[in-house]
Amino acid sequence: MSERAILLKGGLVAGARAVDRNDVLVVDGVIAAVALDLAAPEGAAVLDVSGCVVGPGLVDLHTHLREPGDEEAETIESASRAAALGGYTAIMAMPNTEPACDSASVVADVLARGRSASCEVAVAGAITVGREGRSLAPMAEMAELGVTLFTDDGACVHDGDVMRRALEYAKGLSVTCAQHCEDPALAAGGVMHEGAWSSMLGLPGQPTLAETSIVARDLGLVALTGATLHFLHLSAPESVRLVAAARDRGLPVTCEAAPHHLTLDDAQCVNYDPRFKVNPPLRPTVLVAELIELLRAGAIDAVATDHAPHASERKDVPFDEASPGMLGLQHALGLTVVALGGTERLDLLALFDLLSRRPAAIARLRGADERRAGHSAQGGDIEVGEAANLCAIDLESPTVVTDASIASRSKNSPYVGRTLPVTVRHTLLRGVPTVLDGAAVR
Ligand SMILES: [Zn+2]
Repeated sequence: MSERAILLKGGLVAGARAVDRNDVLVVDGVIAAVALDLAAPEGAAVLDVSGCVVGPGLVDLHTHLREPGDEEAETIESASRAAALGGYTAIMAMPNTEPACDSASVVADVLARGRSASCEVAVAGAITVGREGRSLAPMAEMAELGVTLFTDDGACVHDGDVMRRALEYAKGLSVTCAQHCEDPALAAGGVMHEGAWSSMLGLPGQPTLAETSIVARDLGLVALTGATLHFLHLSAPESVRLVAAARDRGLPVTCEAAPHHLTLDDAQCVNYDPRFKVNPPLRPTVLVAELIELLRAGAIDAVATDHAPHASERKDVPFDEASPGMLGLQHALGLTVVALGGTERLDLLALFDLLSRRPAAIARLRGADERRAGHSAQGGDIEVGEAANLCAIDLESPTVVTDASIASRSKNSPYVGRTLPVTVRHTLLRGVPTVLDGAAVR
């Protein structure tokens, strides 16, 4: 396979504003031509993408890499391979590693380790030292390295004064904070959603108020400080409605939902299967349906995976003792298609907005910050001169999720056995294939 020139032939191309039938020629990592019936230059490789939609490579705002510190569960290499197989060309590494990503030296280390990965690895810095929620981390020195997103994810910055000062600091640096919304007192001890199923199963639950109360408070802090804030993995429809109303009033806020909150409900916990334990917890069917409606109505900015690998010794234990979290990168695309209503009449512009363009904009992966971190522009239009970060998705061939097909080191996917409506056929990172015909090539 020539790595210099590749012609993607016979597909639908999902641009930023329209979907057209076109061929795409990539030369030296950059889109060189977009037109019908392009001839392959001499030496170019030709990829048949008939039946596929070609769009910008997907961008995940929320990946737990586990490296450094828990390489048994996942490494940058294995996570980025899973990401590429899922159509991703960039992922945002959450800072809850060991050590926590709360200083320039750890940021530089993860960025360096990510250079040889199968997708670009952007790094989120911690808001507070050690993600302990007390003193602010040196955000300025991390921002110098191109860090644009700061979060204590895994933990909520629950002290309102600390969060206020973080937002003021972030505003001065022109970076974005992201909150994991979970009131530790209201959520304390809850291992699933508090409702009929938790009563029936005899498991302690946590109410949606544990999430919505922090959302409401932080929207107040954004109004007070004028800083930009992104809300991670919102699971309660009321949380999304609060954020959407604030955004409509002009506040600089965005939010994401995770694929599992759009496709699984709390009834899945019936067999005490720890693969369905996640934070925030799976919600009741009626709330899942409302969340889907909000997604389709455009109230949610991005779908982000919250990819959370766990080695079997932390998952193959009783439900209440298991670590929360599930795999996400490889199947988020198919699950988002399901949430949007399936491949028939699929809104391809919305799909790539949710999975690529808006996440790239929220993470600022298209400007000077990104170049400072040594990355190329993500989430772009399919236009001449754009970096060739692309995926080709086969809309006509479903994927069966199997244990053997999981590229992560951990296997904690609740979707094994399920059939998803689409298949990632090819992924190109800066013009170089990372996935060809559904198989990882590097
Ligand atoms: Zn989180």
